[in-house]
Amino acid sequence: MSSLRLTFLGAAGEVTGSSYLIETEHARFLVDCGMFQGGREADKKNRNAFAFDPKTIDFVLLTHAHIDHSGLLPRLSAWGFRGPIYCTAATADLLQVMLKDSAFIQEKETEWRNKSRRRNQSTLDLAPLYTVMQAEATLKQLLAVNYDIDIMPHPSVRCCFRDAGHILGSAIIEVWIKTKTGCKKIVFSGDLGKPGHPIVRDPAIIQQADILLIESTYGNRLHRCMADTIDELVHAINDTLIHKRGNVIVPAFSVGRTQDLLFLLVDLFRQGKLNNLDIYVDSPMASAATEITLQHIALLDKEASEALRWMNTNGSRPRIHFVQDIEESMQLNQITQGVIIISASGMCDAGRIKHHLKYNLSRRQCSILITGFQAEGTLGRRLVDGAKQVKIFGQEIPVKASIHTIGGLSAHADQADLIHWMKHFTKKPEKIYVVHGEYNNSVALANIIEQTFKWQASIPERLSVATFTF
Ligand SMILES: [Zn+2]
Repeated sequence: MSSLRLTFLGAAGEVTGSSYLIETEHARFLVDCGMFQGGREADKKNRNAFAFDPKTIDFVLLTHAHIDHSGLLPRLSAWGFRGPIYCTAATADLLQVMLKDSAFIQEKETEWRNKSRRRNQSTLDLAPLYTVMQAEATLKQLLAVNYDIDIMPHPSVRCCFRDAGHILGSAIIEVWIKTKTGCKKIVFSGDLGKPGHPIVRDPAIIQQADILLIESTYGNRLHRCMADTIDELVHAINDTLIHKRGNVIVPAFSVGRTQDLLFLLVDLFRQGKLNNLDIYVDSPMASAATEITLQHIALLDKEASEALRWMNTNGSRPRIHFVQDIEESMQLNQITQGVIIISASGMCDAGRIKHHLKYNLSRRQCSILITGFQAEGTLGRRLVDGAKQVKIFGQEIPVKASIHTIGGLSAHADQADLIHWMKHFTKKPEKIYVVHGEYNNSVALANIIEQTFKWQASIPERLSVATFTF
C-alpha cells in the first residue's frame, strides 16, 4: 500500500495564500506558495505559513505568477528550500518583476512599521517577510517548462502544465504520483480563466482526475456576458470623457487586467466605438508586464494577435502612455478631463491608484471603473458597496464620482464556466475539493456541483490534511 498526504496550507475557505503540500514515501513538494493578502491577520499567517521544514521540500510546481500563488517563494528559499520551482516561461518572466516588487514593498512597509515602533519606544525591530536580495536568489531556482509536455520532477512524479486561460503563462497542473502499488492523478485547476477572455486562450480541457482541486473565486456568481460588458464599458467611457468631461480612473491589477483593458480599448477604438483615447498606464509593474506580454505573442489568442498587428500598422490609434517616475505620475493629478488612467493596486489599497482616487473621487464628472475582484476589507470593496465617503491617506474624501462595476472582465471563470469545465470529466473524481474562494462562494460551488453531477465536493479547512491510500 502507498499513501499520499495532501495538506491545505492556504486558499482554503479564502482566496489568498494558495499552497498545497503533497507528501508520499518518496517525494515532498508544494503546488503554489502564495502570500496571504488583506489586513493584519494576513501578515501573521504569512509569518507562520510554513507548517513544515522548507529544507525538506524537493520541488515546487507553480500554477501562475500572481502573488497570492507565488508570493511566499522567496521566504521558502530564505528558510532553506533549495530545489527547482517549475513554471511556464511566461510565468518565470513575470516573476522576475513581481517577486522583486513584492520584496521591495515588504522592505518599505517594514521600514515604516519599525519607525513607528521606535517612536513607541519599542527596541525590537521587525524583519521584512523577505528582502529584494532573497527574492533575487529565488529567481535562480525557476525552471521554465512548456505547456502540454510531460515532465518528471522526481522519478515517482510526472506532471503536465496545461493552459488555464487566466493570465499570461497561467497553468492547470496535472500531477501523477506513481508508486509500486499504483498511480493517483491529482489535478490542480489553479485560477481558471473565463472562455473568451481577452488576450489569453481558453482554459484547457481536462478529462480525468482521481483528486480534483477546483477554484471558486466566483463560485456563487454569474458574470455578465462579454457583449453586455463591452457595452457597459463603452457607455461609461464615452459618457465620462465626452458628456461629463471628466476622467476615467481604472484600478487594475498590473499583471493581467491592465493588459486585458489595453487590448479591449485598442479593439474598441479599432471598431470605432471609442474615439480619441488618451490612456495613461500608471504602474511601472504594469508597463513591465505589458512588455513581457509582447514578448510572448505565441501564447496570445487570435483576437489579440490581430489587434497587435493592427496597432503596428495603423497610423491613427489610441495614445498609450506608460508612466514611469513618480513626478510624471503626480503631474496626472493636474489633468481634470479627457483621460483614462489605469493604475494599481487593483483593490485600491496601495500604490499610485490611491492618489488618483484622492483627486478624482470627489468629482461628479469622473468615473471609477471597477474591473476586478475586490476582497473584503479593501478600499475597492467599500467603493463597490456604495460608501458615501472613504478615507485616503488619512483624509475623508466624499464619493461623488460614478462607480461602475464592470463584472464581466474578471479573469476568473464564473459558476457556469466552472461547471462547464467540469463537464469534460468523463467520470467522477474520487475526491473533489473546492478551494480558493471566500467560504460562502465555495459552499455555493460545492452545492451546484452536487446538484449538477451528484458528486460530493468538500471545502477543506486551512491546515487540514487528507490522506489517500492506493
Ligand atoms: Zn490569479
